[in-house]
Amino acid sequence: KQAELEVKNLKKYYKIAKGKSLKAVDDVSFTIYQGETMGIVGESGCGKTTCGKTCIGILPKSGGEVYFRGKDVHAMSRKEKFIFTKDVQMIFQDPYASLDPHQKVYDIIAEGIQIHKLAKDKNEEQKRVFELLEMVGLTAEHASRNVHEFSGGQRQRIGIARALSVNPKFLFCDEPISALDVSIQAQIVNLLMKLQKEQGLTMLFIAHDLSVVKHISDKIGVMYLGKMVELSDSSQLYSNPLHPYTKALLTAVPIADPDISRKRQRIILEGDVPSPVNPPAGCRFSGRCKNCMEICKKEEPKMREVAEGHWTACHLYDSKNEEVYQHEV
Ligand code: SF4
Repeated sequence: KQAELEVKNLKKYYKIAKGKSLKAVDDVSFTIYQGETMGIVGESGCGKTTCGKTCIGILPKSGGEVYFRGKDVHAMSRKEKFIFTKDVQMIFQDPYASLDPHQKVYDIIAEGIQIHKLAKDKNEEQKRVFELLEMVGLTAEHASRNVHEFSGGQRQRIGIARALSVNPKFLFCDEPISALDVSIQAQIVNLLMKLQKEQGLTMLFIAHDLSVVKHISDKIGVMYLGKMVELSDSSQLYSNPLHPYTKALLTAVPIADPDISRKRQRIILEGDVPSPVNPPAGCRFSGRCKNCMEICKKEEPKMREVAEGHWTACHLYDSKNEEVYQHEV
């Protein structure tokens, strides 16, 4: 398997006062292979979007390394950056804010084709725009209309067509359905899954709820207060969650089968997520964890591979495997 995006001990800190910093992303490592979809989940403020944006170079990093197809994302030449901005595209959270309501759909989709000179003439450009509209479930007739004439779901389809217009290799989807009506969220997730398969795309999909990433992701990273606390392929994570935080998140996922649903006990997380400016010493989840032990308040747990390909940062599993998921930087 070819690594598409390698993230090694990534840090993103914001200085907020003298000697104080907000650790939005703190020592996060993962690899996404070509054609794979990785989901990152966690409550708001856990650092998932900041992590994604730092991975694709929208935000500068504070430490660690990120490589896209072997190239350091934060140390690219202008020419490399130009190619990178074609290869890596983003689907934004809010299609009402990310698209100019007064712009024509055609112009929005054609812009990338023009910048990257992907059509030899106007005819080819038009053919490509119409083709992209059909790929996302719209029609050629929609091209001449202004964005404000469309619903949220349709606008997100336009955003997806815009991203695909430059034949990207990688899509960063930043909570692409959270601003949409529940009734159309599944349609957009299904569309992204279909396009990912058809185009052989690699995806990083950010969401705050596990039920969304379940369908779309090959593997999932769970973040809590700037840290990745569990990383595993999706089926393992759902069938055998390890970290107490993941277990709590999973009990909130609705289950269609009423028998299983009745048997399952909802774990209610008490307390609020602490401030990332003054995170608790030791494990950052210690103040809300029912399994908290003495060591948890003193020592920060490291990511360990507890079962093959299944990593977690929790002292409950300290003796299971001594191998630590940390890249040498
Ligand atoms: Fe809970 Fe301790 Fe594990 Fe943290 S390290 S999740 S406090 S058991």
